[in-house]
Amino acid sequence: MNALLDALRAAVGEANVLTPDQQDLIAFEQDWRQRARGRALAVVRPGSTNEVAAVVRACAEAGVSVVPQGGNTGLVVGSVPDESGRQVVISLRRMQAVRSLDAANLTLTVEAGCVLQAVQQAAEEAGLLFPLSLAAEGSCTIGGNLATNAGGTQVVRYGNARDLCLGLEVVTPQGEVWNGLTGLRKDNTGYDLRNLFVGSEGTLGIITAATLKLYPQPAARLTAWAAVPSLEAAVGLLGLAHQQLGPGLTGFEVMGQFALSLVDKHFPQLRVPLWKDTPYCVLLENSDSEDEDHARHQFERLLEAALESGLVTDAVVAESLAQAQALWHIRESISLAQSQEGLNIKHDISLPVSRIPAFCAETDALLQREIPGVRLVNFGHLGDGNLHYNVQAPEGGDAAAFLREQEGRVNELVFDAVRRYHGSISAEHGVGSLKVGHLVHHKDPVALSLMRSIKRALDPQHLMNPGRVIEP
Ligand code: FAD
Repeated sequence: MNALLDALRAAVGEANVLTPDQQDLIAFEQDWRQRARGRALAVVRPGSTNEVAAVVRACAEAGVSVVPQGGNTGLVVGSVPDESGRQVVISLRRMQAVRSLDAANLTLTVEAGCVLQAVQQAAEEAGLLFPLSLAAEGSCTIGGNLATNAGGTQVVRYGNARDLCLGLEVVTPQGEVWNGLTGLRKDNTGYDLRNLFVGSEGTLGIITAATLKLYPQPAARLTAWAAVPSLEAAVGLLGLAHQQLGPGLTGFEVMGQFALSLVDKHFPQLRVPLWKDTPYCVLLENSDSEDEDHARHQFERLLEAALESGLVTDAVVAESLAQAQALWHIRESISLAQSQEGLNIKHDISLPVSRIPAFCAETDALLQREIPGVRLVNFGHLGDGNLHYNVQAPEGGDAAAFLREQEGRVNELVFDAVRRYHGSISAEHGVGSLKVGHLVHHKDPVALSLMRSIKRALDPQHLMNPGRVIEP
């Protein structure tokens, strides 16, 4: 291994090869949820695409597998090494350049290690919008967002990371560089390689740069918070919002009462509105191309109609940007409040929106029957049919023991229900290593076989993030 370490130092400079004998690598070796701690042979921090290619070539020559890593905020244990101490983590975080912005073409080309918030800011400085937005945006990277095909809160209007990407630059498992950084919206010249790498979670190659789609900034953006009497009503409100706001509907989040009670309990200073007397609340965002008065008028019209028809029982519209941010902050604090409450079993599922109320009624009842006292933290991006359907130990129970003893059973119950309702066991977080075992039971066998063929063809040595997504 010394020859490999020497080759890595030659490729990126001594200071950018971190080894466990020199320093604690926990920040690179442990996942965000602290579900897994691996051991790396080394963490390598290349500063350019050519350096990434040189690192991959050196590892391929030595037969050593690599784990690409961005912000390490992924939730499915995909970006940390295994426990062998023989994998090289390639951290893209030094590659943060904004390479170019083409305002007329509405595109921005950035390096993979750019933090999402910095990408948003680069667009904003040019008076434009990069709409991908999620709670980890201060630390996740655009490379990681594309590698996981991240979703977030604006998908209902702008789509997920895949829909916001026009071109990629990728280092292949053989250490070649594919320059696909086109800003083209039309290009029918064969297989869509960009879409193959997006969502591949570092198992097919390393994304080093991307050309992203930009949008005009809306003239006004308003946020409302509504109490709804049921999930059926939330789905009804979504339909009405689509009808009345059209493309102005840029956010539609649902939050169950127990999820909000956890925010109230652990962060009382956030002052969660309207949650005590209603099973669900909804957060809506209206982005308007005219002005704030127009946006407010549209929102009031929508909420009046919803109140009249019983889809909403009470609602508030934020009066200022600060109030809007405070409402979004509540939504984004659910995950943290849940962690404060104790370990829990997370599911990131998607379903046809129309079937969500029936799915929840059936699966809530099933879980309560099988594990009495279990607590359901249900929230998510209802506008995209994406629920974070999480399961917490009964009140006062030992959360670690609950996870140890019940995770397998709970996953089986939830994922079987997802299959009955024609959903997906991963909506936006990806497969990582946490869901590899489940995928083989819940994905079409022909699709799995095609995926294995692709993996074998592109990465015959099986050195790119092994153990994640699919085994060849
Ligand atoms: P990492 O965690 O470093 O890596 C994730 C995966 O991508 C790994 O498999 C890694 O090997 C691979 N990878 C990373 N960089 C590259 C690269 N350059 N080339 C090839 N492969 C690479 N996700 C959502 O979709 N929607 C949400 O709303 C959302 N909310 C979140 C909220 C919180 C509080 C947290 C902690 C996470 C949330 N996530 C969400 C999950 C996470 O932020 C996203 O998956 C994010 O896209 C990961 O980016 P990252 O840079 O941290 O990637």
